[in-house]
Amino acid sequence: MKNRRLRRLLGVASAALCASTSMVGCSNNETSGTPHAEAPGPGRFASPHPGSVNTYWIEAPEGLVLVDTLRTPEDADRAVAAIRKTGEPVVAILLTHSHPDHVGGARSFHEAFPRASLYASEATDEAMREDKRNFYPLARSANPRFPARLTYADRTFEDGAALRVGGLRFETAGFTAGESDTATVYYRPDTGDLFSGDLAGRKVMPALIEGNSCGWLRILDRLGRRFPKARTMYPGHGAPGPARTLIDDQRGYLQRFRDMVRPATARRSPEGRSVTPGEQKRITAELERAYPGRPPVADLPTLVQENIKAVARELRTGAATKGSAACADQAGEGTPDN
Ligand SMILES: [Zn+2]
Repeated sequence: MKNRRLRRLLGVASAALCASTSMVGCSNNETSGTPHAEAPGPGRFASPHPGSVNTYWIEAPEGLVLVDTLRTPEDADRAVAAIRKTGEPVVAILLTHSHPDHVGGARSFHEAFPRASLYASEATDEAMREDKRNFYPLARSANPRFPARLTYADRTFEDGAALRVGGLRFETAGFTAGESDTATVYYRPDTGDLFSGDLAGRKVMPALIEGNSCGWLRILDRLGRRFPKARTMYPGHGAPGPARTLIDDQRGYLQRFRDMVRPATARRSPEGRSVTPGEQKRITAELERAYPGRPPVADLPTLVQENIKAVARELRTGAATKGSAACADQAGEGTPDN
């Protein structure tokens, strides 16, 4: 691999991409002090809003290793064009989780780079094949460009296994019942790069529709402990940044969101534990004041309402939060009024 040439090409591809898609924050070098300062950072393509999502390409001794495949084949084709400018072969594609916006473009990448194996954890592969939450039909109805048929992994591994891909070593870790039912992160010990899928986004409005904000908070604690040396986090949505900052910001957002929704689920609130339209309006406005202009991670116009509904449902049941320090909110879970 000709490092200098690749660095130049990656830089050009990245800059051209940012200019052509009019997106902000396309730089992948927003953190200083990476362990190997001379190593180029991964390339990134972010699909257009609404619901912008990232695919990354990592320089490896044998070619490029990609992370995630965008939402639609059309988006993927644009990323393929950018990746081709590097002049390097693609040797592997890694999937972080089964959500439609990360797997829908797989076919295009597979056709463009037929020698590249598509990797997913066994849990993610199963989640894709079973689609218990019917996310793929929903994705198709929201976006007719979502493919009629999915492209599945041709290599699966057990979460937690170390992978050698394209001459690079990745550590993996699997997490369940958080942002998604199952999620895999990929960590490069030689650089401290952590490809975290949707476990932490950067200045985006996350999807909480699975109603597992407490589980997600627990995962963030575990993620920080599992990879204490992680330097740069490469999220599924938004620009890369310092791993600790992204984890802390995501935790803060989830806690604050829960704090905003909780009063509406109290027995003594108007109409008791269900969220009224007025309460929903109040929460939406509060959220916009706290996190102005955050782009949603999904191309779902009602994402904020769906998030409120799902977290309200979660807070009403409350069982999952018992005894969990990660989501012991200031107001206290399970107080008599809740
Ligand atoms: Zn996503």
